[in-house]
Amino acid sequence: MKKSQPPELGTARGGGVTLTPALRRSLRRRLLDWYDAEGRDLPWRSKGAPGDPYRVWLSEIMLQQTTVASVIPYFQNFIGRWPELSALAAAGLDDVLFAWQGLGYYARARNLHRCAQVLCADYDGRFPADEAGLRSLPGIGPYTAAAIAAIAFDRPATVVDGNVERVMARLFAITAPLPESKALLARAAAGLTPKRRPGDYAQALMDLGATVCTPRTPDCGACPWWRSCRARASGMAANLPRRAKKKPRPTRYALAYWVARRDGAVLLRRRAESGLLGGMMEIPSTPWRARAWPISEAAHHAPLAAHWRLVAGTVGHTFTHFHLETTVLKGRTNGVALVEGVWVQPADFGNYALPTLMKKIAGHAQSKSTLAHADAPRAAVAVLG
Ligand code: SF4
Repeated sequence: MKKSQPPELGTARGGGVTLTPALRRSLRRRLLDWYDAEGRDLPWRSKGAPGDPYRVWLSEIMLQQTTVASVIPYFQNFIGRWPELSALAAAGLDDVLFAWQGLGYYARARNLHRCAQVLCADYDGRFPADEAGLRSLPGIGPYTAAAIAAIAFDRPATVVDGNVERVMARLFAITAPLPESKALLARAAAGLTPKRRPGDYAQALMDLGATVCTPRTPDCGACPWWRSCRARASGMAANLPRRAKKKPRPTRYALAYWVARRDGAVLLRRRAESGLLGGMMEIPSTPWRARAWPISEAAHHAPLAAHWRLVAGTVGHTFTHFHLETTVLKGRTNGVALVEGVWVQPADFGNYALPTLMKKIAGHAQSKSTLAHADAPRAAVAVLG
C-alpha cells in the first residue's frame, strides 16, 4: 500500500476503540514482521522463542523506572555472578544491594532477593506461569507479572508500560489525558494482544515505543502502523498522550550526623528494612518529614553525644514523589561509646552499598566548612550530651 492512502483505523466511539477482525490481524502481523526485522537484540531476549524466566524476571525488575542502556551492564554483572535463581537466593542481601548500587529504587533489590528465596523455598525454584501466581510474589506487580507471563511463558497477557500507553494513545488518537485515560489505553492494548506469539508481540510493542514512536519526535515513516495511525493522519502524534498537570513535588527535610573518630573513621548504620532506601547503609539521619528540623531537636535524634557543628549549606536530592533537603551536622567522638553501626574510613565507603543521597551527604560534609560559633545563627550550633 502506498503511503498516500488514508488510515484504515477510523472508529473511536465514546472515547473507546473498536477494530474489525481483519484490521486487528493486520496490525499484529505488521508489528511482528517489523519486530523480526528491526527488534532490538538485548542480553535477556530470545526472539522467536519464550525467554528464560529467570533472565526475563531479572531484566523486568531492573527495567522498572530505568533505561535499557543503564540496565545492560547491571544485568550482565548479575547474570555473571548469579547465573541461576538458586545462586541469587543463596547470596547475601548485602552483596545483592552492593551489586545494585547506582540503579536506585533499592526496594527492588530487596524484593528481588526475597522473591528468589521464596521461589526456591516454596516453588521448587520455578516461576509460576500465570499472572495471578506471579503477582503473589515479592516485588512483582501487575505490569511485571504480565511481562513475565507473556515473554517467558507465551501467555496472551497484555503488557502496558509508558511506551505502550503512548503508542495506543497515538494509534487510536485517544485525547483524554493521563492518568485518567490509563484504563482506556489498557483496554485498547488488550484488544490487540494476540494468542499467537504474545511474548514477541509484547516486546515488539515496547520496542516500537522505545525506538520509533518516541515521546517528542515519532519516526512515523519507519513505523509498521503508520497507515493505520489516527494521530499520524491528523498531525497530532507529537502531542499525544496528553497529561494532566502534575502537582508540584513537596519538600521534606532531614538532619544527617557526620560523626568521626580520632582515626578519621565515620559512623555508618543500616536503615530500617521498610521504606525508601530500606536496608541500605546511611550516614545516621533523622526521619524525613514535611516540616524543617529546628537545630534544637537535633540532640534527640543524634546517634551519640557529641559536640555538633553545622555544615554550611544543605544537600538537595529529588526522589520521584518528593524533594529532600538535608542539613548536615558534624561531630567528633573518642569512639568509646557503644552505638549501632560500623566505623568506616571515608576512603573505604566504596565497599558499602551507599545510595546516591548518602554519597552526596558525605561529599558535602567533607568539602564544606562548618560554621564557626561566631558565624552561625545562635540556634544553629548545638552542644549535645
Ligand atoms: Fe507512533 Fe507515528 Fe507509528 Fe503512529 S505512525 S504509532 S505516531 S510512530
